[in-house]
Amino acid sequence: MAFDQYNRNINYLRVSLTDACNLRCRYCMPEQMTFRPGTQLLQDEELLLLLGVFASLGFEKIRFTGGEPTLRPNLVDLVRAVTALPGIREVGLTTNGILLDQLARPLHDAGLRRVNVSIDTLDPKRFRQMTRWGNLRDVEAGLAAAEQAGLKIKLNCVPVRGYNTNGTGDIPALAGLTLDRDWQVRFIEMMPLGGITEFQEHHRVTEPELRREIEEALGPLTAVHEGRLDGEARVYRLPAARGTIGFISPVSSPFCAACNRLRLTADGVLRLCLLRENEIDLRQALRTGADHQQLATLIARAVHDKPWGHGLAQHQLATNRVMSEIGG
Ligand code: SAM
Repeated sequence: MAFDQYNRNINYLRVSLTDACNLRCRYCMPEQMTFRPGTQLLQDEELLLLLGVFASLGFEKIRFTGGEPTLRPNLVDLVRAVTALPGIREVGLTTNGILLDQLARPLHDAGLRRVNVSIDTLDPKRFRQMTRWGNLRDVEAGLAAAEQAGLKIKLNCVPVRGYNTNGTGDIPALAGLTLDRDWQVRFIEMMPLGGITEFQEHHRVTEPELRREIEEALGPLTAVHEGRLDGEARVYRLPAARGTIGFISPVSSPFCAACNRLRLTADGVLRLCLLRENEIDLRQALRTGADHQQLATLIARAVHDKPWGHGLAQHQLATNRVMSEIGG
């Protein structure tokens, strides 16, 4: 098992498979975003070699993200290979769902069991406005396919003031999906990262505001797990609902003490904290001949050095990458 200097067991790796995306969500990246050439990204065999090293160090949970991970060629083969790595107990996927219609079944057959789909509104016009490019119908088809394939579903929504809050009804509509579905709908507080921090700071919505809006429309929320964190989320249930509602509030209620994760970017850099710039270049180590033992030593040292937490309260912002280059 891998422990950091604060005795946290670090066993969860989020892996970005590409920095490219087929949407341009306003709070995630600038519209004119450019992406890295393929040669700068970890190739399949490099990625699998690295993930084998992580697994040997006690990492047991992997989540593929991006950019948009479904744009990665061979995603299904990668899922199959990673699911089979000794020590890996769970492989998940975070996606915008646009391409899930075709991929849900093959991904399930390859061993994927969980999918988190990002969706910020159920209104087609506002969906396009927030994603700049997206068609809501594609995501709906993706969700239907995921459900049919038997994938466990969570939805991620980022509330953005003036877009999907303030009387649009989007937040209660998304929360209401949990009434007759066994899904978890999570509301993620907008984090400041990269060149759009001003937008992110000005359009953030607080958890109490969201809870009020949901409760006014749908009734009281009751805490699940006696209010303890479930992963990074505080979880509630609406009256008689099948599913649950989670609030992930890294800015106003940081959960750094419970953080158990590192992030591997698509260009092979190990990011020690989402909201800090500390990074270790594993691609360079790999391409200059580091063997399994040397990589394991490098990663174990990085785990040890993981910062205690982000510095947002001290106005320390990480601006060297936008969210889509890290993966959330
Ligand atoms: N393309 C995939 C998707 O849409 O889920 C995976 C990558 S995306 C960066 C992962 C998650 O990060 C999405 O749920 C997205 O809404 C969220 N996200 C992006 N920018 C964010 C920000 N500034 N603060 C909080 N969440 C953000």
